[in-house]
Amino acid sequence: MAKPDFWKNNKNYYDLKSYWRNLFGCNVHKLQIDAGFTCPNRDGHVATGGCIYCDGRGSKLRQQGILPSVAEQIINGKKYYAKQAVKYIAYFQTFTNTYAPVEKLRALYDEALVQEDVIGLSIGTRPDCLGPDVVELLGEYAKKYHIWVELGLQSAHDKTLQFINRGHNFQQFADAVNSLAGRGLNICVHIIIGLPGENNKDVLATAKTLADLPVNGIKIHSLLALEGTILGAMYKKGTISMITKEKYVSLAADVLEILPPEMVIQRLTADGYRDIFLAPDWAMNKLDVLNSINKELERRNSYQGKNYGTTL
Ligand code: SF4
Repeated sequence: MAKPDFWKNNKNYYDLKSYWRNLFGCNVHKLQIDAGFTCPNRDGHVATGGCIYCDGRGSKLRQQGILPSVAEQIINGKKYYAKQAVKYIAYFQTFTNTYAPVEKLRALYDEALVQEDVIGLSIGTRPDCLGPDVVELLGEYAKKYHIWVELGLQSAHDKTLQFINRGHNFQQFADAVNSLAGRGLNICVHIIIGLPGENNKDVLATAKTLADLPVNGIKIHSLLALEGTILGAMYKKGTISMITKEKYVSLAADVLEILPPEMVIQRLTADGYRDIFLAPDWAMNKLDVLNSINKELERRNSYQGKNYGTTL
């Protein structure tokens, strides 16, 4: 098997930019939206304190004060790309963007979709915030628009999910994926490499599990220790260590080899957090990490999907 022609890119994996260019024939950008949601893993509905790596601050806009409306955020975001002929995906990013009654969700999503050149939504959420009425609503949108549902998972291992205080288990995630599947929705899953207590085999098992589910995209990043988080405190106390760049690059390449060639790689590094960043220092150089992963795949004469379907 060779690197697939349908990617039409010069990378060793199928990146989001190429996927959207192939699908829509133009550049497509995500516009980040903070619609004022909270998270049940922070407000006591599921748990308090949140995931141990989560800083709980929300977007920069939220930190600055009163949030502009969804429409205003889109209009402002589009100015940034004004010189490029593009379409947009409204990315409901901050906290849990299905954590409200469906009528409120419908109003917020509609506010985004009526904006000029917005062709779809990307909705970040948790597996335990996708009740039947929400799934039904998302399926309705998928008949007319390009819709991604981004599910935080981080690891397919319950012992890890418990340690990082995700507030849900793997089965809840799998149930959510199965309820979303078959409705024309695109499912993107977030995973972290370098979680405490996980070895290489655990990471690859998570990738293999996702490769076998109806998942269309993935976001991967290394564990980050941030000031003000439980994990950050553990790092400062020396009770956990952070993954090295070499190990991350090698494992990210291993994961890409296992995933299906059609799965869209939405992210391979973490963004932002410069003001509260503790470790690992190499993770702040995003370009270097991306180049290193691509080079590692080249060194192996390999690419995303090369080991898809093989037994671990
Ligand atoms: S689910 Fe997301 S927003 Fe909620 S605590 Fe975890 S990382 Fe933070």
